Amino acid sequence: MSFNLTDSISSIRGVGPKTEQILNKAGIRTVRDLLYYLPRTYENYTETTKLSEIQPGKVVIRGKISDLKTSHTHRRNLTITEGVIRDNTDAIRVVWFNQPYRARQFDEKKEYYFIGNYDFNRGRYQLTSPKAELAQDVDRKNGQSSTFRPVYPARGSFKPEGFHKIMETMRPGFAFIPDLLPEYGLAKPGARADALFKAHFAENDDEVKSAREYLAYEELFELILASKLNKQENQKLHAKVIPFVPEDIKKLVEHLRFKLTNAQRLSTFEILKDLEKPVPMNRLLQGDVGSGKTVVAAISAYSTIRAKHQVALLAPTAILASQHAESLKELLEPFGIRVALLIGSTKCKPAIKEQIASGAVDLIVGTHALLTDDTEFSSLALAIIDEQHRFGVDQRQKLLEKTVKTTGFAPHLLMMTATPIPRSLQLAVFGDLDVSILNELPAGRQPITTKIISELNFVDTLYPTVRSYLEKKQQIYWICKKIEEGGPSEAVSVKKQAKKLENVFKNARIAFIHGRMKNDEKDSIMEQFAAGKIDILVSTTVVEVGVNVPNANLMVIMDADNYGLAQLHQLRGRVGRGQEAAECYLVTNNNEPSRRLKILEKSNDGFYLAEADLKLRGPGEIYGSLQHGALNLQFASLSDSQLIAMASKYASEFANTCAKNPRALDDYPELTTCIKRYQQLTTLN
Ligand code: ADP
Ligand code: MG
Repeated sequence: MSFNLTDSISSIRGVGPKTEQILNKAGIRTVRDLLYYLPRTYENYTETTKLSEIQPGKVVIRGKISDLKTSHTHRRNLTITEGVIRDNTDAIRVVWFNQPYRARQFDEKKEYYFIGNYDFNRGRYQLTSPKAELAQDVDRKNGQSSTFRPVYPARGSFKPEGFHKIMETMRPGFAFIPDLLPEYGLAKPGARADALFKAHFAENDDEVKSAREYLAYEELFELILASKLNKQENQKLHAKVIPFVPEDIKKLVEHLRFKLTNAQRLSTFEILKDLEKPVPMNRLLQGDVGSGKTVVAAISAYSTIRAKHQVALLAPTAILASQHAESLKELLEPFGIRVALLIGSTKCKPAIKEQIASGAVDLIVGTHALLTDDTEFSSLALAIIDEQHRFGVDQRQKLLEKTVKTTGFAPHLLMMTATPIPRSLQLAVFGDLDVSILNELPAGRQPITTKIISELNFVDTLYPTVRSYLEKKQQIYWICKKIEEGGPSEAVSVKKQAKKLENVFKNARIAFIHGRMKNDEKDSIMEQFAAGKIDILVSTTVVEVGVNVPNANLMVIMDADNYGLAQLHQLRGRVGRGQEAAECYLVTNNNEPSRRLKILEKSNDGFYLAEADLKLRGPGEIYGSLQHGALNLQFASLSDSQLIAMASKYASEFANTCAKNPRALDDYPELTTCIKRYQQLTTLN
């Protein structure tokens, strides 16, 4: 029996119309989908634990059960079924929650296998909600097949055992699964069929491990190859050549109020060199909050405009776009550069759009509004995207298509982000991007002092500090998790916190801001805060991105445990943007502060924190927003830098082969389909 991977699952014996419907709903449509639907875990009935030797953790026990009784708690509305499990060495307690049938399930004279977690719960060690099976049934099954059994995740009403049955039906066909990848690295002939077979029919943990490793490699190879091929595609497009004229650049740099850092010089140089090429730049400028990305963008824009082309700068929020427009006007207007702002609330939009279309403005700063279909540029050569993770791939694509359509040229792209991307992730996901790094803060910056404080002694420790900042006439951010009281979380709300502070600091000017306010209202409050007309701004994380208020030097983050490391660091970056020392208080009501908060207390280095975060949480969550959750790796872990390095090496080799011989991919039709999925994710073209 062999099967075709692209066939519908209905081609498999045992998958009737009803099963097909349920599985389709769960996204399992083809034979391939089924093959890649892997067990969640494996149960090993051969390795039972003697009760006299039991340790906390996952255990398999063979024994008899007695003393079963069921009780009910009214407070938490739980049914609790308890009992005692014995083997010939010792006895332990067992408990099930909300499974009252357990009290009637067992025959006290017979032996059962129990699989579950032995842990400390409600004041004692016990086996909690184990699965149970009659020992003679298991032994009989084991006689026929393996004692190491896969447990599939259920899908809708389709039970784990259902998957088990289907896989058993398919078993003879596994040997005929064709290879997917070209022969590099772990992709030996037959390796894929072998890995999938082992993943479903493993005999022991080692087989599971090697199967998973191959599948992770396959996944990374596809992802990285997709991004390398994107890069090659990008190289085929034409972009405007922007000559690098050092004398011109020097004039602008001398005009700055400060000296550029070395990192800024180097990044600027890398960008200006790229702009000189006839292919579109595709570069990511990474720099921690406050590292001075804006001026690098400004110099790049200046050079492009000197070459008689237009530049668009896209920011994620109206507030940020306005701020950029202000500071770029101040810097560039003395050089005869015409800057325009185009955001949702801009008056006389048609007039400005006309100026953009006629080339009467050189630098257009805006939000998504800039991307609406009726904005036409006369000669857009460079697009700068600030905080790129807030921009969807679709939006970038739109900009590119629009420009190619009207000018025949693709714009150079400069993306800026304050979210440092660890190197392993860079290789895997952003292989098509070149990267410049601002790894140095401007001189004279004082580090932000960060302290964890308990909500209990909050008043004694924090209020005097707040008072001293108010006396110094410095401003304060006060971050809260939610907008209003209520809801499942006990976190304090913006509205309640603002009221509280108003009662304590009677002379202070206090305002609040949150994401559910209208844009105009938000902008107006932000402007007042920036102008120093508000002393304490109580806010949700809406202030997270980019706003620059150098006189704000104290930040209090309530319920700090509720945020991720990267997000806390980003929030904290709102203070300490001037020459004054700044402080950040992380308020928690946990007795023992989390690892995250302790790491944050110790370090101000965004790159270090990003690595730490990657280790603590895995990349899905940090970069979820960055790729809109589309980067959904099934097997690979982005913290597995060795496997990534290997996949990267071989994917590059194969990409080079494809560059030399465009037909090279034709031999791998399945791979071609797989990488299309990733190309949509990482591509700009
Ligand atoms: P970010 O990288 O977070 O976008 P900005 O570009 O907003 O940082 O810069 C933060 C502040 O630092 C701004 O007020 C900017 O004028 C200032 N700045 C930038 N570069 C330097 C420098 N080399 N020396 C001193 N101040 C600088
Ligand atoms: Mg910025």
